[in-house]
Amino acid sequence: MEQTSIFKYTIEELEEILMENGFKKFSAKQIYDWLYIKMETNFDNMTNLSKELREFIKLRFKADLLKDLVTEESKDGTIKILFMLDDKKTIETVLMPQKYGQSVCVTTQVGCKMSCKFCASGLIKTERNLSVDEIVRQIYTMNLYLKNKYKDDPENRRARVSHIVVMGIGEPFDNYDNVLKFVKIINDKRGFEIGARHITISTCGIVPKIKEFADLKTQINLAISLHASNDEVRNTMMPINKAYPVKTLLDAVRYYVDQTNRRVTFEYILIDGVNDRPEHALELAKIIKGINGYVNLIPYNEVEENPYKKSTRIDEFYRILKKQNINAIVRKEFGADIDAACGQLRAKREGVIKNEI
Ligand code: SAH
Repeated sequence: MEQTSIFKYTIEELEEILMENGFKKFSAKQIYDWLYIKMETNFDNMTNLSKELREFIKLRFKADLLKDLVTEESKDGTIKILFMLDDKKTIETVLMPQKYGQSVCVTTQVGCKMSCKFCASGLIKTERNLSVDEIVRQIYTMNLYLKNKYKDDPENRRARVSHIVVMGIGEPFDNYDNVLKFVKIINDKRGFEIGARHITISTCGIVPKIKEFADLKTQINLAISLHASNDEVRNTMMPINKAYPVKTLLDAVRYYVDQTNRRVTFEYILIDGVNDRPEHALELAKIIKGINGYVNLIPYNEVEENPYKKSTRIDEFYRILKKQNINAIVRKEFGADIDAACGQLRAKREGVIKNEI
C-alpha cells in the first residue's frame, strides 16, 4: 500500500482510520500529541503506542517534512525558506518574528492563475494547488526551526509558531477545500492550537467563496486585496475584477461582516500614479464607509518585470483616510532584503534548484 502523509489528516479522520482497523479511537489523540506537541516524526519513537499500532501507522503513513533547499535570514529577523515538493516544484514560506509572537506566511499554490498585474507570483508558469499536507508541512518545518532555535528555553513563547497569514504564493480561495482543512488541522486544540483569531486568509476577491466562508461563521480573519477604489482602476490591475467588480465584492464583504461580526481588512498597495491620488483616497473612504473594517496600506514592492513603482504619497493617502474617519495603518515591511516582502515570493532560484536535483 502506498503511504500517505500523516499531515493531511484531521484528528477525526485519524480516529476513523484507526477504528476501521481495529485500533482504539483514543490513539489518534496520542499520535497528534507526538506529532504536533512533542514534534516527533519518527513513529518508532512514539513509545506509548502499542507495537501493533506503530507497525500499522508505519505501513500506512509517512511523516516526511518538506525538503528545504535554501534558508535566508533578513536583517530584521525574517526567515524565508525555499522548499522543494515531491514533484520537484518549488515554493516559498516566510517566518516573521513579531512583537506579539511568531507569524508564518504560507503558500497555497505553485504559481497563481489570478494574474494580478503587479504581483511576482503570477509570473510562475506552472501552477497547481498545494495539498493539505504540503501546507501543513510548511508550518511544521517553521515550528521545528523555532523549537531548535529556542531549545535552551523551550517555554519561551517565541519557541513556536503562533500566527498564520495565508498570503504567500497563490489564491487561497482558489484552493478552498485544502486551505480550510489545513486551518482545521493547525487550529486543533490537541495539536498546534493556533487560534482562529490568529489566522488571516487573504483573497483577491472570489465572491462565491467569500460567501461560503462567511457562512462557516468562523473567527478566522479575512483580508481583501482591494487595491483600488473603482472598477476602472481595479480592472487595469486585477483581472478578477471583471468577474467580480468592486460593488459585488463589497456586498460580499458586508455579508461576511454580518455573518461573522468580524472586522475585515482591506489591503491597499500604493502604486505611483495608478491608485495613490487624493481623489482615490476620498473615493476609497466613501465606498467602504460603514463597513466594519480597516485599511492596510502596503508600500508597493517593485517587481522587475512590470512598470509599477512605489508610491511617494503614502502619508498623504493615510492622512486623507484618517480625516474621513477610516481606520488605517501603514504596513511595516518585512524581509525586503531577501525578497520576502509582500508579493515578492516566487521561488525564482533556478540555479540552486538545478544544482540540488
Ligand atoms: N492571492 C491572495 C493572497 C496572496 S498575495 C490575495 O490576492 O490576497 C498577498 C498580498 O500581497 C495581496 O494583498 C497582494 O495583492 C499583495 N501583493 C502582491 N504583489 C505585491 C507587491 N509587489 N508589493 C506589495 N504587495 C503585493
